[in-house]
Amino acid sequence: MDSSTRFRKGAAGGLGLALAGLALGLTAAAHRSPAPRGIESTARPGVEGEARAGYVFQPLPYAYDALEPHIDAQTMEIHYDRHHRAYFRNLASAAEGTDWEGVPLEQLFARMSEFPESVRNNGGGHYNHTLFWEVMSPDGGGAPPRELAARIDRDFGSFEAFREQFERAAMTRFGSGWAWLSVDAEGRLFVSSTANQDNPLMDVVEQRGVPILGLDVWEHAYYLNYQNRRGSYVEAFWNVVNWPRVLELLRAAGH
Ligand code: MN
Repeated sequence: MDSSTRFRKGAAGGLGLALAGLALGLTAAAHRSPAPRGIESTARPGVEGEARAGYVFQPLPYAYDALEPHIDAQTMEIHYDRHHRAYFRNLASAAEGTDWEGVPLEQLFARMSEFPESVRNNGGGHYNHTLFWEVMSPDGGGAPPRELAARIDRDFGSFEAFREQFERAAMTRFGSGWAWLSVDAEGRLFVSSTANQDNPLMDVVEQRGVPILGLDVWEHAYYLNYQNRRGSYVEAFWNVVNWPRVLELLRAAGH
C-alpha cells in the first residue's frame, strides 16, 4: 500500500458504517467504556473472548447449547471456538505492525479490493460471525417488532415475501457463503448473498449496504446436525432470529 492508501487510525468512515461498527462493538475503541464484557474472565470455559491488534473477539452471548434444538451445542462450540476464533487470530496476526492495525473493519471493507485475499477472508470471517452470534438468541423467533415489520412490508411487500427471498438467497448460494438482509445508502432493505466470507460492506461485492441480519450457509454451520440438508437448517434459523437486535442494527446504520 502506498502512502495515498494509508489509513489514519480513528478516521471516521461513512456515518452509517461507523455506527454499525459501534453497534457491533468490533473495535477495541468501542469498548473503552464500559470495560469489555467478559474479555478478562468468564465463568464458562471455552467461551472466553480476547482482544488483539485493536480487534475484539467477543464472548459468545449465550451458552453453546442455548440455541438447541435448532443449532446443536457441538456445532456452536466448534463454530465459535475454532472457526471464528481462527478468523479472529489470523486477522490480528495480519494486522499487527501494519498501518491499518486497529482500523475499524468497516473502513477496511470499504477498500477491501486493496488488500490481500487473506485479510478479506479473515476480516470478513471475524465480522460476519460476530454479527451472526448477535442476531440469534435463545429467546428469538416469532415476528419482528412493529417498526421493523413495517419496513420489511414496505420494501418486500410482506414478511412472507422477504422470508422467501432470504431463503432463496441462502439456498442458491453455491458452495460456502452467507445470506444477508441489509440496508442500502437510501435506507432501503434488500436481500443478497455473498461467497466465502465476503459481506455487503465490501467494495468487492455487487450490492452494497450495511448488513443487519446474516445467515452462515457454510457446511461447518450445520453439517453435524443437518448433514446436507441446508433447507432444514435455514428453516430452523427463523426460530432463533433476534429481531429486536436486527432492529437496533437498522437504527444504528442511520436508517
Ligand atoms: Mn461460519
